[in-house]
Amino acid sequence: MNALFLRQGSEKQEFIPLDPQHVKLYACGPTVYGLIHLGNARAAVVCDVLYRLLKEMFPAVTYVRNLTDLDDKITRVSSQRGISALQLTQEMIDRFHQDIQVLGVLSPDHEPFATEHIPDMIHIIQILLDKGFAYQAQGHVLFEVSKYSDYGQLSGVSLDQMMAGARVEVAPYKRSPYDFVLWKPGQEGQEVWPSPFGPGRPGWHIECSAMSQKYLGDVFDIHAGGMDLLFPHHENERAQNCTALGVQEFVRYWVHNGMLVINGQKMSKSLGNVVTLYDALTLFPACVIRWALLSTHYRQTLDWTDTLLQQTEVCVKEVASVLEPFSQIPAQGDVDPEVMTFLKDDLNTPLALGRLYQWANALRSESFQKQEKEIPSLKRTCEFLLGSVPTLRLLQVLSEEEIEMHLSKRRAAREAKDYDLSDQIRDYLLQNHVIVSDTKEKTSWHYEKILK
Ligand SMILES: [Zn+2]
Repeated sequence: MNALFLRQGSEKQEFIPLDPQHVKLYACGPTVYGLIHLGNARAAVVCDVLYRLLKEMFPAVTYVRNLTDLDDKITRVSSQRGISALQLTQEMIDRFHQDIQVLGVLSPDHEPFATEHIPDMIHIIQILLDKGFAYQAQGHVLFEVSKYSDYGQLSGVSLDQMMAGARVEVAPYKRSPYDFVLWKPGQEGQEVWPSPFGPGRPGWHIECSAMSQKYLGDVFDIHAGGMDLLFPHHENERAQNCTALGVQEFVRYWVHNGMLVINGQKMSKSLGNVVTLYDALTLFPACVIRWALLSTHYRQTLDWTDTLLQQTEVCVKEVASVLEPFSQIPAQGDVDPEVMTFLKDDLNTPLALGRLYQWANALRSESFQKQEKEIPSLKRTCEFLLGSVPTLRLLQVLSEEEIEMHLSKRRAAREAKDYDLSDQIRDYLLQNHVIVSDTKEKTSWHYEKILK
């Protein structure tokens, strides 16, 4: 299979980019008010595989993943913690970058901040007002859903379902409960920006509309994100862009990844079962986490269980043990064609991982010459799928990047005078054979000698 196929609705469609020389991809990034959870990590890893695949297949790819650093949740958490919104978002952006880098997720080509694109959002809102798709009321600007007859086509959610599911907010300033916010007045203590519609803050959906359009143009190839964003976020983005631009579609292909559940249960704060990526990384090596995140097809629900992780760890160890005698040989050459074929079929990562595993195991009984010949490509395929080449040492001890991640968390704890947490992290590192020593000037670390 040479072409890439992506499932759109009920059928797989061949992916034909607008410009075969340059593919354009947008993904909704995190709202940076806390550490990302495994559901966010799944979205990032799925998009990373897609990005790597596109880079392999096309001469140029531009990948944009925004950062939502402007949200009421940010105001709430920063005031709870007694720090500014800017301090909170900077801390969480650093933590987000550290955590997903450990997972081998490549950086996007552009990572725009919402707060740096307010004029672009105001520009689109003004067009929507001028064209009669939006109206002003009590300091708000609202998108008038009834003016856009295509509303609901992307998600398949009807207006009746919206009402029944109470997924719309009734407010006195709205002409209809379905109408959604483009601009709103700030609440007490919130930063506001000047605009022709009065000082205020943008709605969430207009952020992505403005940033995708700015970096990728009016119509672009692929928009990715979690299934939970399909309605209302992507439905509203589509309403905004298509009406402002006067186009039928602004995105040619959508890639929505399914949810991640913990032991069959939806992750939620009220159940107390939210697992952050950081927490998962303290229990299992990054390549095991990444393999497990890709072990279920991206459109299906992924059930995160201890059994899944234990089985995955066995698989990763077996691949690592085949590679172990060849640590000096670099990753080189082409990604395995069978793996490519599976990925081109709507990103079938479970079959691609299965092929990787079987290939490595089959090599175990081959001659040394054959092994030596195939190892560079096997390693290259590992890098491609897993973000790194698994080694037995990495599976036994923490990687340098992981250690730096723990140490930065410890530094933050010490700065906040949370010495209990700081000691817990030092003890955790010690259990994992990493010795931390503090002097007045700096903190250094080394692996426990026995494992060197
Ligand atoms: Zn978005």
